[in-house]
Formats: sequence, C-alpha cells, structure tokens
Amino acid sequence: MERVDVVVVGAGIAGASAAYELAAHGDVALVEREPVAGYHTTGRSAALYTESYEKGPVQLLTLASGPFLRDPPDDFVDHPLLTPLPVLYVATAAQLETLDRIVAEVAGRTELRRLGGEELHQACPALDPTRLVAGLLEPAAHEIDVHALHQGYLRGARRRGTATLLDTAVTALRRRDRRWEVRAGETVLVADVVVDAAGAWADEVAVLADVEPLGLTPLRRTAFTFGAEGHDLTGWPMVVDADERFYFKPERDQLMGSLADETPSEPCDARPEEIDVALAIERITAVTDFTIRSVRRTWAGLRTFSPDRLPVVGFEPTADGFLWLAGQGGFGIMTAPAMARLAAAIVAGGPLPDGIDPDLAAAVAPGRLR
Ligand SMILES: Cc1cc2nc3c(=O)[nH]c(=O)nc-3n(C[C@H](O)[C@H](O)[C@H](O)COP(=O)(O)OP(=O)(O)OC[C@H]3O[C@@H](n4cnc5c(N)ncnc54)[C@H](O)[C@@H]3O)c2cc1C
Repeated sequence: MERVDVVVVGAGIAGASAAYELAAHGDVALVEREPVAGYHTTGRSAALYTESYEKGPVQLLTLASGPFLRDPPDDFVDHPLLTPLPVLYVATAAQLETLDRIVAEVAGRTELRRLGGEELHQACPALDPTRLVAGLLEPAAHEIDVHALHQGYLRGARRRGTATLLDTAVTALRRRDRRWEVRAGETVLVADVVVDAAGAWADEVAVLADVEPLGLTPLRRTAFTFGAEGHDLTGWPMVVDADERFYFKPERDQLMGSLADETPSEPCDARPEEIDVALAIERITAVTDFTIRSVRRTWAGLRTFSPDRLPVVGFEPTADGFLWLAGQGGFGIMTAPAMARLAAAIVAGGPLPDGIDPDLAAAVAPGRLR
C-alpha cells in the first residue's frame, strides 16, 4: 500500500491541471487508464479560448482562466499557449435575433463587434454575402496550444512530486478508517481525498466509490479537416453559425470543420459517424464557396455535461473526501486553470482563487444537483 494525500483519477486536462495545483499542497498520485494521457476528449478538442461562447458561470471560469493561459509560470512552457483566433458568429436573415441574444448574454464581459454582409466577406472571403447578412466578431478569442498546456501541467505536477501511473485503471474505491483505499492496477493507494476527473467515466468512478451518479451525459461531437483550395487562410477567424449548427476554423494550411453535434453516447472511445460529417459539409458549403470533395481526417470526442450543463467542482455531500471535477462539456480546456485552482483551494481549505467568488463556487458545487 502506498500512502498519498490525494489520488486523482483521470489524466486528461482536468486531472492533469488538478494534480499540478494539488501537488503544491501535498503528495498526489495521478492515475490514468490509457497508456497516453490525453487520449480521450482532451486530445480531440477544437482548442478554442472564447469569452463569448459560453455564458454565466462557465464564462466567469473562462475569464478567471485567462491570466494563466496568457501568462503561465516561467517554467511551465517555452512558448505562448495562446495564438489570436477571432471568432465570427454568422447569421442569415432568419437568425438576426440570435445575434441579439448572444450580445445580451455576453453582457459587456468581452468585446463583440457587429459586422454587415460585406464586412463578413472581408473577414472571411469564403463566406457567401447573399446568404449571410450579419455577424458578430469576438476579436480577443484565441487558439490554445492544448498539447503544450496539458504537457505543461503533467510535467509541472511531476516536478512537484506527483506520481503519474499510466496504463493503470482505478478499479475499486473503498472508504476505510476515514481514508480512501484506491485499487490502481496492482497497487493500492491510500489517500485522504479522491478527485474524480474521469471525464465521460466520472459517474462510473463515483459508482465504484458507492457514490450516487450525478447523471452526467457524454455527448459525441464529430470533427474533420479539409483543404481550402484557392484560399489563403492567413488571418481568417473561426466561423460559427449563430445557432451553432456548424463551425469551421483555419488550422495552418487546412480547415477543421464540425457539425457541432451533440449525440448522447455511452462512455467509450468515440468514433465519427459518416452522416455527421456529410451533414456538416452540406451546411458549410451552403454558406461558403468551398467545394469539399474529400476530407483528410475525421474524429469524434465526448463532451460530458451535467444535468444543468454547468461543471461540477467540489466535495460530494454524501461521501467524505470524494471530490468531483467533472462535467467539463465543451469548455474544459479553456476553464481548466480556474477549475483546477478551485479544486485545490477546496481540498486545501484555502481562500478561493482570483476570479472565483463564493457565488460562482456555489454554482458549480455538486450539492446543487442533490
Ligand atoms: C470536438 C470537440 C471540440 C471541443 N472544443 C473545445 C474548445 O474549443 N475549447 C474547450 O475548452 N473545450 C473544448 N472541448 C471540450 C474539452 O475537450 C473537454 O471539456 C475536456 O477535454 C475534458 O477533459 P477531461 O480531462 O474532463 O476528460 P478526458 O480528456 O476524457 O480525460 C478523462 C480521463 O479519465 C480516464 N479515466 C476514466 N476512467 C478511469 C479509471 N477508472 N481509471 C483511470 N483513468 C480513468 C480516461 O482514460 C481519460 O483519459 C471540445 C471537445 C470536443 C470533443
């Protein structure tokens, strides 16, 4: 048996960032079932940092994560984590009210510029000004180097003494003598606190601990890349349909596209469905001059949501020492720095991190779902 203060289950962005922050306060073991950390949702995202896409508590967690992403600690990474990538919401005449709703919801927390049809075409020359009549540009959005962020957390956690166990599943969790016994492969770890950062499997891990599931739902989202023949993509924004029926964004010399689908799924190694790629292509080509004859790569990932679509960060009220860090939905990368610091502050009993007030902490606490 090995004694640690905290066992973190899952080494995606949630578990890696939590291990990094927790390791500043005590001994941490980070346990990941896959041989490679980040194999599941963390390695499959669109890598966007946007302060307008999600509203309410998620927007506040994104804003609270901004300072870390813009200015990480000196030894964290050797190049910037963020690269400018403005987001452009586009609307047909029938979607103009949706643009007004987005402006109202963002409520002055980040700049949104209204663009007319001709300006849309200037921002992204592939857009068809006869179909799309208006848009909203978020100039301060960025692309996140997800790999660098994730590796920075894993490396930093190790440097702070975290033991990382890859290719090792947590298969049993038992509370004994006010501690958790965690079976991780052949090892039994004894810890005061277990952090459930198991992504799509977070409810299954809770069941191992005899904790009632929260009703987390993994929703599959499909993505693909394609060529942009005839276009120079320099300076292009990410283009998002006002009702999020599709999006595409430049990725060096190609484009990444998605149907922005949300298909309920079991926790699994998600695979793309051809029909979702075909539908995305239909919607994207309807409002652009692209001819997409073939796609280069397709993939899918599970975005896991709680019943109210807010993340869940905090101790389970019915089980001592069981901390949820789950329900990261489609925002788990851009909110990871703030959520990890919140998780560490809760475990260490310290003050709330910058940018997180008691109302925000209560809004994401698991008690609201019990
Ligand atoms: C197509 C797509 C686009 C996205 N775009 C964005 C975006 O632009 N911006 C953004 O911020 N977010 C985005 N997201 C969401 C983001 O990727 C997720 O919110 C985030 O990656 C979730 O991280 P996680 O660590 O919770 O989950 P995961 O990365 O899935 O990690 C959970 C880990 O737990 C492990 N695990 C499970 N059970 C056990 C066990 N019993 N024992 C040991 N290990 C276990 C799993 O193997 C897995 O590695 C997107 C997602 C998708 C799919």
